[in-house]
Amino acid sequence: DLFGAGKMFLPQVVKSARVMKQGVAWLLPFMEAESAGQERQSAGKILMATVKGDVHDIGKNIVGVVLQCNNYEVFDLGVMVPADRILDEAERLKVDMVGLSGLITPSLDEMVFVASEMERRGFRMPLLIGGATTSKTHTAVKIAPAYPSGSTTYVLDASRAVGVVSALLSPTERDRFTAETVADYARVREQFARGQDNRGRMSLADARRRAFATDWSRTVPPKPSFTGLRTFEDWDLSDLAEHIDWTPFFASWQLFGRYPAILEDDLVGQAARDLYADARRMLDRMIQGRWLTAKATVGFWPAQAEGDDILVFADEARTQVAGRFHTLRQQMVRTEGDRANLALSDFIAPVGGPPDWLGGFAVTAGHGEIEMAERFRRDGDDYSAILATSLADRLAEALAEALHRRVRTELWGYAPDEVFDIEFLIGERYRGIRPAAGYPAQPDHTEKAELFRLLEATRRTGITLTESFAMDPPSSVSGLYFSHPESHYFGVGRIDRDQVEDYARRKGWDLATAERWLAPILNYAPGG
Ligand code: SAH
Repeated sequence: DLFGAGKMFLPQVVKSARVMKQGVAWLLPFMEAESAGQERQSAGKILMATVKGDVHDIGKNIVGVVLQCNNYEVFDLGVMVPADRILDEAERLKVDMVGLSGLITPSLDEMVFVASEMERRGFRMPLLIGGATTSKTHTAVKIAPAYPSGSTTYVLDASRAVGVVSALLSPTERDRFTAETVADYARVREQFARGQDNRGRMSLADARRRAFATDWSRTVPPKPSFTGLRTFEDWDLSDLAEHIDWTPFFASWQLFGRYPAILEDDLVGQAARDLYADARRMLDRMIQGRWLTAKATVGFWPAQAEGDDILVFADEARTQVAGRFHTLRQQMVRTEGDRANLALSDFIAPVGGPPDWLGGFAVTAGHGEIEMAERFRRDGDDYSAILATSLADRLAEALAEALHRRVRTELWGYAPDEVFDIEFLIGERYRGIRPAAGYPAQPDHTEKAELFRLLEATRRTGITLTESFAMDPPSSVSGLYFSHPESHYFGVGRIDRDQVEDYARRKGWDLATAERWLAPILNYAPGG
C-alpha cells in the first residue's frame, strides 16, 4: 500500500520481500507437509515469462517479487519461453492470469503471437503486458485485438502491477476495470488511426537527395592503428566500476533523477543512498570474488558507403568485399534549409571518395551473471539477485564506454589527447558515435548478425544471438563505431513502403520478411 501511494520505494519493497521470505523459510517444510495435495492459500496465481527470443528479466523479476509481497503466487518460467510452453504451463498450473515481458522490439510480435495462441486455444484469463519495449499503444493496437476473448492490460511498471492484478481478480471490481480498459484502449486505437493519416513521408529518392553532405575534398578520415580484430579476454572489473553511469542504475530501480544529485533528493534521497550503499558493497564482492568475466572484441575495417549501405573490405586496396551493413534513412518531411534526412551511411565516405574505415564492437560483462543471481535466489534473497544483475548490466555499459574511450584515444587513435572525465564520457560529448542495432538510428536488430560474423563475436566473447537477435548473456552491448567529426545519434522514425521494398531487396528478403523486422517503424499497415 505504501509503495502504491509513493511513500515507499521499490528497493525497500524488494528488500522487505527478502525479510519475509527468509523469515518464513524455517516454516516451509511444515507448510509443504501440511498442504500436500491441496492448494496453498494465495490471493491468486500468476504465470510470468520473458517471451521467446528475449533474455532480459530484471523488470519481470521485480514485478514478481512485488506481487509475491502481496501474497500472489508467482510462477516464473524465466527467459526465452516459447508460446506453447507458456500456455501449456498456464493450463497445468491453473493460473489466474499470464504476464509477458520483453525488452527488444521483435518481442512485440512474439507477444501478439502468444495473444493469438491464447485466442486459438480458447483461453479466457487476463493477459498482462510489460517490459521496456512495450507500450499502451502497442498493447491496444496490436496485442489486445489478437485476444478478444480475454482482457489484455499494459502494466507500466512494478508500482502498477499490484493494482492491476488485484482489480482483475476482484469479483467486485473486475467488470468495471475490464470495461474501462476496453474503452480506454478503443480510444487509443482511434487516436492511433488518426495519427497514421497525417504522418507525411517524402519519397526515398527525395530523402536521398537530402542526405547529410560532407565535403570529402576537405575531410580526411583517420586511419585506425590496425585493421582486423582484437580481443580482450578478461577486462579488469575494478576499471569498469570507475566507468559506471549510475543514473540509469537508479532508474532501473524506479528512482528517477540524475546521479549524484539524486542522493540528496528530498523525496527519494534516503532510498537512493541506501540503494547506492548496498550497490557499492555488492560491487566490491563481485569484483573481489571475480563473479563475472568481462570480455570484448573490437574490429576495424576499410569501408566505403555505397548508397545507404556500408561496404567493408578485407584489404586496404578495397578490392575484396568482406561484408555489408545496411542502413535506413529518415523520410520525415522537411523543408528547404532544414536538417538533412540522415542515414548512418552518410557518415562514411562513398566509394570513389577518400579511404575511410568503420569499427565494430561486442562486449559482455555477463559471463557468470546467471549463476550469481541463482546463488542468491536459492537463499531466498531476490533483492541481492536483482541488485547483482542490475550491476552486471551497468558493468556491460561501462565496458562499452571504457572500450570506446580506448578506441578514440589509442586503437583508432583520432583523439589521443582526450581528457579523462566521467561527466564528459556519460554526456557522450566526445567525437564519434557507437550506434547499436535495435536503437533509433538503426532499428533493425538483424544487422547484429553481420556485425557478429565480422567480429567473430561468439567465438571471441561467448555472446550468442537469439532468434530475435537479443544478445545472451543479457549484460552485453554491441554496435558500430563511426569517427566522422559530425557523426551523431538520430532516429530514423517511420519509413514508407518504397524504402521497405528497397531495403528488402538489399537484404535479400521478401517484402513480408522486411515488414516483420521493421514492424515498429512502418508508416503504413502492411498488406493494406
Ligand atoms: N551511459 C549509458 C549509455 C547507454 S545509452 C548507460 O550506461 O546506460 C547510450 C548508447 O545507446 C549509445 O552509446 C549508443 O550505443 C546507443 N544509442 C543511443 N541513442 C542511439 C541512437 N539514436 N541510435 C543508435 N544507438 C543509440
